[in-house]
Amino acid sequence: MKVTPLGVGDAFSALYYSTSLLLETETTRLLVDCPHPIRKILRESTHGRVDVGDIDAVVLTHLHADHASGLEGYAYFCHFALHKRAKLICSPDVLAALWPQHLRAGMGCLLRDGVAHEMAMGDYFDVTLLPPGGALTVGDVHLRARSTVHHVPTCALRCAGPAGSIGYSADTAFDEDLIAWLAEEDVIIHETNLGAHTPYEKLCALDPALTARMRLVHYPDHFDVESSAIACLRQGEPFVVRRRQAAA
Ligand SMILES: [Zn+2]
Repeated sequence: MKVTPLGVGDAFSALYYSTSLLLETETTRLLVDCPHPIRKILRESTHGRVDVGDIDAVVLTHLHADHASGLEGYAYFCHFALHKRAKLICSPDVLAALWPQHLRAGMGCLLRDGVAHEMAMGDYFDVTLLPPGGALTVGDVHLRARSTVHHVPTCALRCAGPAGSIGYSADTAFDEDLIAWLAEEDVIIHETNLGAHTPYEKLCALDPALTARMRLVHYPDHFDVESSAIACLRQGEPFVVRRRQAAA
Protein backbone atom coordinates (compact mmCIF):
# COMPACT_ATOMS: atom_id res chain seq x y z
CA MET A 1 0.00 0.00 0.00
CA LYS A 2 1.36 3.36 -1.00
CA VAL A 3 0.81 6.10 1.57
CA THR A 4 1.24 9.74 0.62
CA PRO A 5 1.13 12.23 3.48
CA LEU A 6 -0.69 15.13 1.83
CA GLY A 7 -0.23 17.23 4.93
CA VAL A 8 1.40 16.63 8.29
CA GLY A 9 0.52 19.77 10.26
CA ASP A 10 -2.03 20.83 12.82
CA ALA A 11 -4.85 23.38 12.63
CA PHE A 12 -2.51 26.31 13.29
CA SER A 13 0.35 25.41 10.97
CA ALA A 14 2.12 28.07 8.94
CA LEU A 15 4.46 25.43 7.46
CA TYR A 16 2.35 22.47 6.43
CA TYR A 17 -1.05 21.51 5.13
CA SER A 18 -3.37 19.91 7.66
CA THR A 19 -2.82 16.23 8.21
CA SER A 20 -4.41 13.99 5.59
CA LEU A 21 -3.37 10.83 3.79
CA LEU A 22 -3.72 9.39 0.32
CA LEU A 23 -3.82 5.57 0.40
CA GLU A 24 -3.30 3.65 -2.83
CA THR A 25 -3.37 -0.01 -3.74
CA GLU A 26 -3.36 -1.41 -7.27
CA THR A 27 -7.13 -0.94 -7.54
CA THR A 28 -8.21 1.52 -4.87
CA ARG A 29 -7.51 5.11 -3.85
CA LEU A 30 -8.77 6.49 -0.54
CA LEU A 31 -8.44 9.97 0.85
CA VAL A 32 -8.27 10.00 4.64
CA ASP A 33 -9.60 13.39 5.74
CA CYS A 34 -10.12 16.30 3.41
CA PRO A 35 -8.69 19.72 4.29
CA HIS A 36 -9.03 22.77 2.04
CA PRO A 37 -7.78 23.38 -0.66
CA ILE A 38 -7.83 19.67 -1.42
CA ARG A 39 -7.17 19.79 -5.19
CA LYS A 40 -4.06 21.93 -4.70
CA ILE A 41 -2.92 19.69 -1.85
CA LEU A 42 -3.38 16.55 -3.98
CA ARG A 43 -1.69 18.14 -6.98
CA GLU A 44 1.38 19.22 -5.04
CA SER A 45 1.93 15.93 -3.23
CA THR A 46 1.30 13.72 -6.28
CA HIS A 47 2.78 16.10 -8.88
CA GLY A 48 -0.55 16.19 -10.69
CA ARG A 49 -0.93 12.41 -10.82
CA VAL A 50 -4.03 12.25 -8.60
CA ASP A 51 -7.03 14.58 -8.59
CA VAL A 52 -10.41 14.46 -6.91
CA GLY A 53 -11.87 12.39 -9.76
CA ASP A 54 -9.32 9.64 -9.12
CA ILE A 55 -10.38 9.11 -5.51
CA ASP A 56 -12.70 6.17 -4.79
CA ALA A 57 -13.88 7.51 -1.42
CA VAL A 58 -13.11 10.05 1.28
CA VAL A 59 -12.85 8.58 4.76
CA LEU A 60 -13.59 11.30 7.28
CA THR A 61 -12.28 10.85 10.85
CA HIS A 62 -14.03 13.87 12.41
CA LEU A 63 -15.41 17.33 11.78
CA HIS A 64 -12.68 19.68 12.99
CA ALA A 65 -11.99 22.04 10.11
CA ASP A 66 -8.36 21.01 9.67
CA HIS A 67 -9.69 17.56 8.73
CA ALA A 68 -12.98 18.41 7.03
CA SER A 69 -12.72 21.94 5.56
CA GLY A 70 -12.10 20.66 2.02
CA LEU A 71 -15.28 18.65 1.83
CA GLU A 72 -17.43 21.44 0.41
CA GLY A 73 -14.99 22.10 -2.42
CA TYR A 74 -14.47 18.38 -2.98
CA ALA A 75 -18.21 17.75 -3.29
CA TYR A 76 -18.85 20.83 -5.44
CA PHE A 77 -16.09 19.70 -7.81
CA CYS A 78 -17.71 16.26 -8.02
CA HIS A 79 -21.12 17.88 -8.60
CA PHE A 80 -20.28 20.56 -11.17
CA ALA A 81 -17.14 19.23 -12.88
CA LEU A 82 -17.48 15.46 -12.63
CA HIS A 83 -21.28 15.20 -12.54
CA LYS A 84 -21.23 12.55 -9.86
CA ARG A 85 -21.76 12.29 -6.15
CA ALA A 86 -18.81 12.20 -3.82
CA LYS A 87 -18.35 8.88 -2.05
CA LEU A 88 -17.93 9.45 1.66
CA ILE A 89 -17.27 7.05 4.52
CA CYS A 90 -17.80 8.26 8.08
CA SER A 91 -19.30 7.34 11.43
CA PRO A 92 -23.00 7.90 12.23
CA ASP A 93 -22.02 10.69 14.66
CA VAL A 94 -20.04 12.52 11.99
CA LEU A 95 -22.84 12.09 9.46
CA ALA A 96 -25.45 13.41 11.89
CA ALA A 97 -23.60 16.71 12.28
CA LEU A 98 -22.00 17.00 8.85
CA TRP A 99 -24.89 18.44 6.86
CA PRO A 100 -26.88 20.48 9.40
CA GLN A 101 -23.91 21.88 11.32
CA HIS A 102 -21.10 21.98 8.77
CA LEU A 103 -22.06 21.90 5.10
CA ARG A 104 -25.61 23.17 4.79
CA ALA A 105 -24.70 26.83 5.22
CA GLY A 106 -22.58 26.73 2.06
CA MET A 107 -24.31 23.99 0.08
CA GLY A 108 -27.98 24.07 1.07
CA CYS A 109 -29.12 26.21 -1.85
CA LEU A 110 -28.18 26.33 -5.55
CA LEU A 111 -29.44 28.74 -8.19
CA ARG A 112 -30.67 27.20 -11.44
CA ASP A 113 -31.67 29.74 -14.05
CA GLY A 114 -31.89 32.25 -11.24
CA VAL A 115 -34.26 30.10 -9.21
CA ALA A 116 -33.20 28.91 -5.77
CA HIS A 117 -33.27 25.16 -5.26
CA GLU A 118 -32.98 23.61 -1.87
CA MET A 119 -30.26 20.97 -1.84
CA ALA A 120 -29.76 18.02 0.49
CA MET A 121 -26.80 15.94 1.59
CA GLY A 122 -27.83 13.15 -0.77
CA ASP A 123 -27.64 15.46 -3.79
CA TYR A 124 -23.89 15.70 -3.33
CA PHE A 125 -22.80 12.66 -1.36
CA ASP A 126 -23.07 8.91 -1.52
CA VAL A 127 -22.46 8.01 2.12
CA THR A 128 -21.45 4.68 3.59
CA LEU A 129 -21.46 4.45 7.36
CA LEU A 130 -18.52 3.00 9.26
CA PRO A 131 -19.46 3.02 12.94
CA PRO A 132 -16.90 2.63 15.73
CA GLY A 133 -16.25 -1.09 16.07
CA GLY A 134 -17.41 -1.62 12.50
CA ALA A 135 -15.63 -2.80 9.38
CA LEU A 136 -16.05 -2.18 5.67
CA THR A 137 -14.34 -3.13 2.43
CA VAL A 138 -13.76 -0.56 -0.31
CA GLY A 139 -12.17 -2.04 -3.43
CA ASP A 140 -9.33 -4.13 -2.03
CA VAL A 141 -8.93 -2.14 1.20
CA HIS A 142 -10.46 -3.40 4.42
CA LEU A 143 -11.34 -0.61 6.87
CA ARG A 144 -12.03 -0.75 10.58
CA ALA A 145 -12.93 2.13 12.89
CA ARG A 146 -12.56 2.80 16.62
CA SER A 147 -13.53 5.81 18.71
CA THR A 148 -10.76 8.02 20.04
CA VAL A 149 -10.63 10.45 22.96
CA HIS A 150 -11.13 13.86 21.36
CA HIS A 151 -13.27 16.99 21.71
CA VAL A 152 -15.78 15.83 19.08
CA PRO A 153 -16.72 12.33 17.86
CA THR A 154 -13.62 10.96 16.14
CA CYS A 155 -12.64 7.61 14.68
CA ALA A 156 -9.20 6.09 14.34
CA LEU A 157 -8.83 3.78 11.37
CA ARG A 158 -7.18 0.57 10.34
CA CYS A 159 -6.74 0.30 6.57
CA ALA A 160 -5.52 -3.02 5.21
CA GLY A 161 -4.62 -3.57 1.58
CA PRO A 162 -3.54 -6.87 0.00
CA ALA A 163 0.17 -6.18 0.52
CA GLY A 164 0.36 -3.92 3.56
CA SER A 165 -1.64 -2.01 6.09
CA ILE A 166 -1.70 1.03 8.34
CA GLY A 167 -3.32 1.99 11.60
CA TYR A 168 -4.06 5.72 11.81
CA SER A 169 -4.76 7.29 15.20
CA ALA A 170 -6.62 10.33 13.82
CA ASP A 171 -6.83 12.99 16.57
CA THR A 172 -6.67 11.54 20.04
CA ALA A 173 -5.39 11.84 23.57
CA PHE A 174 -2.77 9.27 24.54
CA ASP A 175 -4.54 5.92 24.66
CA GLU A 176 -2.51 2.73 25.01
CA ASP A 177 -5.50 0.54 24.18
CA LEU A 178 -5.95 2.45 20.94
CA ILE A 179 -2.27 2.06 20.11
CA ALA A 180 -2.45 -1.69 20.74
CA TRP A 181 -5.43 -1.83 18.35
CA LEU A 182 -3.57 0.15 15.69
CA ALA A 183 -0.48 -2.03 16.15
CA GLU A 184 -2.31 -4.97 14.60
CA GLU A 185 -1.40 -3.38 11.28
CA ASP A 186 2.05 -3.07 9.71
CA VAL A 187 2.68 0.63 10.29
CA ILE A 188 1.15 2.92 12.93
CA ILE A 189 0.60 6.51 11.84
CA HIS A 190 0.08 8.46 15.04
CA GLU A 191 -0.67 12.06 15.84
CA THR A 192 1.28 14.12 18.34
CA ASN A 193 0.54 17.64 19.54
CA LEU A 194 -0.19 19.83 22.55
CA GLY A 195 -3.26 20.16 24.77
CA ALA A 196 -5.82 17.38 24.35
CA HIS A 197 -3.57 15.60 21.83
CA THR A 198 -0.96 12.88 22.39
CA PRO A 199 2.29 14.06 23.99
CA TYR A 200 5.42 13.05 22.09
CA GLU A 201 7.04 11.95 25.37
CA LYS A 202 4.28 9.42 26.01
CA LEU A 203 4.85 7.83 22.62
CA CYS A 204 8.62 7.76 23.15
CA ALA A 205 8.10 5.78 26.37
CA LEU A 206 6.38 2.92 24.51
CA ASP A 207 8.08 -0.36 23.58
CA PRO A 208 10.84 0.41 21.04
CA ALA A 209 9.63 -2.49 18.91
CA LEU A 210 6.35 -0.60 18.60
CA THR A 211 7.74 2.88 18.01
CA ALA A 212 10.01 1.44 15.31
CA ARG A 213 6.80 0.81 13.34
CA MET A 214 5.34 4.21 14.20
CA ARG A 215 5.35 7.38 12.07
CA LEU A 216 4.28 10.76 13.42
CA VAL A 217 1.92 13.28 11.86
CA HIS A 218 -0.14 16.27 13.08
CA TYR A 219 2.93 17.71 14.80
CA PRO A 220 3.21 21.43 15.67
CA ASP A 221 5.41 23.70 13.56
CA HIS A 222 8.03 23.92 16.31
CA PHE A 223 8.40 20.13 16.51
CA ASP A 224 11.96 19.08 15.71
CA VAL A 225 11.38 16.59 12.92
CA GLU A 226 15.10 15.97 12.39
CA SER A 227 15.86 14.87 15.95
CA SER A 228 12.58 13.08 16.69
CA ALA A 229 13.19 9.65 18.21
CA ILE A 230 10.13 8.40 16.29
CA ALA A 231 10.24 8.84 12.53
CA CYS A 232 8.02 11.61 11.18
CA LEU A 233 6.06 11.54 7.96
CA ARG A 234 6.98 14.39 5.63
CA GLN A 235 4.47 16.22 3.53
CA GLY A 236 4.52 15.03 -0.07
CA GLU A 237 6.95 12.16 0.58
CA PRO A 238 5.16 8.88 -0.18
CA PHE A 239 6.23 5.55 1.22
CA VAL A 240 5.22 1.97 0.59
CA VAL A 241 3.91 -0.12 3.47
CA ARG A 242 4.71 -3.79 3.13
CA ARG A 243 3.38 -6.74 5.06
CA ARG A 244 5.42 -7.34 8.20
CA GLN A 245 7.47 -10.54 8.39
CA ALA A 246 5.98 -12.92 10.93
CA ALA A 247 8.07 -13.03 14.10
CA ALA A 248 10.52 -15.96 14.09
ZN1 LIG B 1 -9.41 17.35 15.84
